Amino acid sequence: MKKIAIIGAGIAGLTAAQRLERQAEIQIFEKSWRAGGRMTSRNKNYNFDHGAQYFCVKTEAFRQFLAPFVEQGLIRRWDARFVEFDRDRIVARRQWHAGFPHYVAVPGMTDFGRVLAQNLNINYQTRVTRIVRHGDRWELIANGTSLGNFDWVILALPAPQAAALMPDCFTQLQHIRNKTMQACFSLMLGFQKPLQLEFDAALIGNMDISWLSVNSSKPGRPREYTLVVHSTNRWADDNLDLSGEAITQHLIAELERVTHRDLSSADHVDMHRWLYANIERQKSPHKLVDYQHQLAAIGDWCISGRVESAFTSGFELSINPAHASGPD
Ligand code: FAD
Repeated sequence: MKKIAIIGAGIAGLTAAQRLERQAEIQIFEKSWRAGGRMTSRNKNYNFDHGAQYFCVKTEAFRQFLAPFVEQGLIRRWDARFVEFDRDRIVARRQWHAGFPHYVAVPGMTDFGRVLAQNLNINYQTRVTRIVRHGDRWELIANGTSLGNFDWVILALPAPQAAALMPDCFTQLQHIRNKTMQACFSLMLGFQKPLQLEFDAALIGNMDISWLSVNSSKPGRPREYTLVVHSTNRWADDNLDLSGEAITQHLIAELERVTHRDLSSADHVDMHRWLYANIERQKSPHKLVDYQHQLAAIGDWCISGRVESAFTSGFELSINPAHASGPD
């Protein structure tokens, strides 16, 4: 049986592993201590989904893949009271509903990755640092230590990290290098008393913050009242060098301006920097495969910065030339 290494246990890598499992012996390498990548949660007295907030389903393949998880209650609908702000003014309102479901994993976004990872062969806390050719096989290396030899290597990483690690012979390396991913800062606020906002989720225009969710309004969350705020990608890209304190203070000030609330009562304040959070919609192929060198690259960045895009990229990966639909 062929041996395949998948680097990265985000949604793209996990989906690809499940798809290729019957065809080959799969080993996944993940630098974090858990699976799920940017679809993640943080629990420090309060619970937050500080990466992906929710996801929608547009393709039949994703709908079918999710069906058993919806059935078992791992994936549930978040029927949020949704508003759109223009600066501090609400300009649109609607209730999310079953007609166009907005889904979350329960009890946290990280649990989707946790469940997908079950029964897969994953080496956690293993950051792959080099990929070296020996004859017709690839050796993976983590800080000088060999992780073994493989017939195929699949990189399921954000584009800049894939470009840095991918061997130079990869026929579509320039294609990966051309991808620009955008940053985002996530602010997490926990309160002892609810703020009584008139919405659960908000898109915000013309400010340095673009998103606000009452995280605790999602199904299956602990009762403690929590907010998650995202900066715009542009403000994050322009302010990557700011101190954590300066970023936090700016995002809180922006949120106070939008909501007209004094947020000094927050009992818990935390902030996370995402260097590679998002990417604009792409026209490129859904996955990049080099059959000659037995290398591939997948990830949301092939399509758009969405959970479903990560799934689609991993799901459509075929390393069997007989299944290839032609050159990508
Ligand atoms: P990732 O999740 O990035 O997985 C890559 C994995 O590779 C990670 O686990 C990483 O630890 C690992 N890795 C990296 N380098 C190495 C290495 N050298 N060796 C080993 N492992 C390595 N999507 C939505 O649909 N809806 C949303 O509301 C939404 N909001 C978002 C908000 C934020 C702030 C962010 C950051 C993302 C959001 N997204 C949203 C996007 C969504 O999270 C991603 O599209 C999706 O999770 C990407 O999955 P992936 O598998 O392609 O990559």
